[in-house]
Amino acid sequence: MSGSALRELPVCNPRTGEPDYRIPATGAAELAVLAAHLRANQPAWFAAGPAHRAAVIKAWSAGLLAEPGAVLDALVTDTGRHLLALREINALGGMVAGNSALASTALVEPAERPSLTPGIHAQTQLVPYALIGVISPWNFPFLISMLDTIPALLAGCAVIVKPSEVTPRFIAPLMASLAAFPELAGVCAFITGDGATGAALIGEADGICFTGSVATGQKVAAASAARLIPAFLELGGKDPAIVLASADPDRAAAIVLRASVQATGQACQSLERIYVDAKISKDFVTRLVARAKAVQLNWPDSRRGQVGPLIFANQAKIIAAHLADAVQKGAHIETGGVIERHGGGYWLRPTVVSGVTHDMLLMTEETFGPVLPVMSFRDVPEAVRLANDSVYGLSAAVFGDEAEALVVARQLIAGAVSINDGALTTEVFDVDKNAFRLSGLGASRMGASGLLRFMRKKALLIQRGEAKDMHALEEATL
Ligand code: NAD
Repeated sequence: MSGSALRELPVCNPRTGEPDYRIPATGAAELAVLAAHLRANQPAWFAAGPAHRAAVIKAWSAGLLAEPGAVLDALVTDTGRHLLALREINALGGMVAGNSALASTALVEPAERPSLTPGIHAQTQLVPYALIGVISPWNFPFLISMLDTIPALLAGCAVIVKPSEVTPRFIAPLMASLAAFPELAGVCAFITGDGATGAALIGEADGICFTGSVATGQKVAAASAARLIPAFLELGGKDPAIVLASADPDRAAAIVLRASVQATGQACQSLERIYVDAKISKDFVTRLVARAKAVQLNWPDSRRGQVGPLIFANQAKIIAAHLADAVQKGAHIETGGVIERHGGGYWLRPTVVSGVTHDMLLMTEETFGPVLPVMSFRDVPEAVRLANDSVYGLSAAVFGDEAEALVVARQLIAGAVSINDGALTTEVFDVDKNAFRLSGLGASRMGASGLLRFMRKKALLIQRGEAKDMHALEEATL
């Protein structure tokens, strides 16, 4: 860190509201040195082959999973939650195992084959981008940082990760765990910093994986376009749930509540709009409200209850603004609805809102809180029209008779649809999906394409017939 350029950023604790941690903002000059160092190590990392890379990554991750202590403690402080922090780290095991298994087949170059052009035989060389930049958000700081990093490393790239400045405490212990594996540390680094550091990373990398808001994603896309490097964007959502008349209202209410309130609603794939068939909507809302009222905050005992604090104070303002806009336009808060202050942090109980319309921010913009606005529909075409009436297209859910739900799901403009469950993309990492509309851009980060998007295909074209010489250009041969 060059002394004169040192910029420090305060970090707030979501449970106390206190700025009790500071990080240096990595500057462009320091980043350039780091990028050059990783680039120098990348060719040997790639040359070692996918099996070796998988073995190194597995050895490191097994150690971290066996003794997550320091990273886990930091992540608990970063996010104010215990259970989900542990789940974020534990997800690394499946991510490494699943991507390693995929890599063993997906990264194998295809056999030489004859081209359709007579005499020509073709080989395909897979060439990874040397340096991938990963820029991640604050809602699942560890998990989302790893989602792109693990497949990029397995593909043979070097990776620099810039997690959110809102939740950066886990970075130092994570770097310490990497340091014990010098080969891996030579091609993978986590850096601290804010948007300026993220922007500098776009200036250094050969490809960017960005997860975050639409507004920042658009800036990242523009900056990447200016350098003509690929940007894989995973952005916000306003996920709809459709509850068909054939659904069990109580079971649907229970699952919708979980899929909306999970992580205090601070998840891109949270259910944020609920459309219920008018035939069962009264019953559904009654059950949803009863279940929502029974939910407990993780306060004052952080080891009890289901709903943690809002991680980012600014988000509390956005949620409050969406609720105020809805109420001012005629919506009714059935339960919850008040941002509570406990211990200096911001909290919101599950909030069910009725009487909503698509004129309200609550039904059109990402709220990112444990808020469930419910609207009823008369028939399936109306449900599909309402669900698709959005600028987003991340994911969705449909509840009811499976065959009927699948017919509905196929009509939804979204990259993933959970049937008789919600937010299943938090649990399923091996099935390809794209983000539709403003929710993102680029190849799926899941499944084999999660690895292959880091490989460019080089065509090696071998002439085994008669190569053309200048006679082929002679006009007189016409
Ligand atoms: P954000 O866009 O504010 O920030 C994300 C990251 O971008 C941070 O690391 C930030 O420092 C960095 N950044 C800011 N300005 C930048 C710039 N000009 N250039 C490069 N990097 C820059 O998002 P957030 O508030 O941290 O996260 C919440 C958002 O993330 C929500 O919209 C949520 O839906 C979305 N999200 C999407 C997914 C998904 O998979 N689609 C998953 C989780 C979160």
